[in-house]
Amino acid sequence: MRWTLPSDRVPEAWFNVAPHLPAPLEPPLHPATREPVGPDDLAPLFPMALIAQEMSAEPWIDVPGPVLDILRLWRPTPLVRARRLEEALGTPARIYYKDESVSPAGSHKPNTAVAQAYYNKVEGVPRLTTETGAGQWGSALAFATALLGMECKVYMVRASFGQKPYRRVMMETWGASVEPSPVDDPGHPGSLGSAISDAVRDAAGRADSHYSLGSVLNHVLLHQTVIGLEAKEQLAMAGEERPDVVIGSCGGGSNLGGLALPFVPDTGVDLVAVEPASCPTLTEGRFDYDFGDTAGLTPLLSMYTLGHDFVPPSIHAGGLRYHGDAPIISNLVRHGRMRAVAYPQGKVFEAALQFARTQGSIPAPETSHAIRAAIDEALRAKEEGAERVILFNYSGHGLLDLQAYDDYLAGRLDAG
Ligand SMILES: *Cc1c(COP(=O)(O)O)cnc(C)c1O
Repeated sequence: MRWTLPSDRVPEAWFNVAPHLPAPLEPPLHPATREPVGPDDLAPLFPMALIAQEMSAEPWIDVPGPVLDILRLWRPTPLVRARRLEEALGTPARIYYKDESVSPAGSHKPNTAVAQAYYNKVEGVPRLTTETGAGQWGSALAFATALLGMECKVYMVRASFGQKPYRRVMMETWGASVEPSPVDDPGHPGSLGSAISDAVRDAAGRADSHYSLGSVLNHVLLHQTVIGLEAKEQLAMAGEERPDVVIGSCGGGSNLGGLALPFVPDTGVDLVAVEPASCPTLTEGRFDYDFGDTAGLTPLLSMYTLGHDFVPPSIHAGGLRYHGDAPIISNLVRHGRMRAVAYPQGKVFEAALQFARTQGSIPAPETSHAIRAAIDEALRAKEEGAERVILFNYSGHGLLDLQAYDDYLAGRLDAG
């Protein structure tokens, strides 16, 4: 029921989906001139190696040895068959999940945090700034910079800073410094967009600092493809030819992309993005150029967006509260290679409890969106009497999200 690989089987090259996309990616535009940005425009914020990856058309990109050494602390992650959930559902479908919750920070996010910190370090940048919502990305980057002996400054959405003290404590334990955002408006609850503005402003103003983004960008999704590459190998070990459907929750698109992108060339594999009904970027947003942040400091990205001034309601899946989406994910949805579904919070927590009470593990609220969709696929397979192979990304555990579970169990959770 569980397929593991030895530590020397962490993929040694990342899968670049760019040559496999249904249409070429549209370039990011400079926020002032609206001309395509070049490497020099991005150099104040990112190391050259990451800028090159952002624009690369090479089908495979080597993972540096020192990055592999750190990834091997928890990778390859297990592929698990959710047999007890299948039995509870009475479905003929076979449900598999890739368990990214086993990383030190408890999610998939360290896969890119380690790579990003490494490239900055080798290019002589000792300090990184970033934003964090619920604290998942901030803790991943704090972990990565700690292991590489770098400094880390995290701007945390003020509402979460108050509500999620344990993620802040994790970041501080790894040596990061954490400040509530927006820094210039102490009465504001904040948003991911405003925290990005704070982090970009900090990095742009200091020679010793770069900025690091935990999702959305091409190089972030690239680093996450170790997930799907391992999963392919493990599914083969489990005797499966290929999955029928691959599912991931989608905030900016990194855990979904990490699992799904290596399956893009495989015809017949249905790729599904799952988002919250209260922040329905792919299902109800418009496809357009928009800023990645609230203040309009970042390049304009071609993506599905709810508008950079959209402030999503404060649902518990903080990692899915983003107004935009990765250009790669947007491209796949726009051209019909991936589809998107949205679920209200109440249905998501119902699925989270069913998972916890059958498989045992308590999922992050973000992850529970993917679980909801996997359960609904399995129920559809049951109705149709069809054997179907379902693969989803177990992007993180929910052990620091117990307030959300308490609210749900006590009937205080807004079901929308
Ligand atoms: C951040 C996060 C997400 C959403 O971000 P993506 O970039 O869309 O993957 C999903 N699950 C978990 C556990 C997260 O921490």
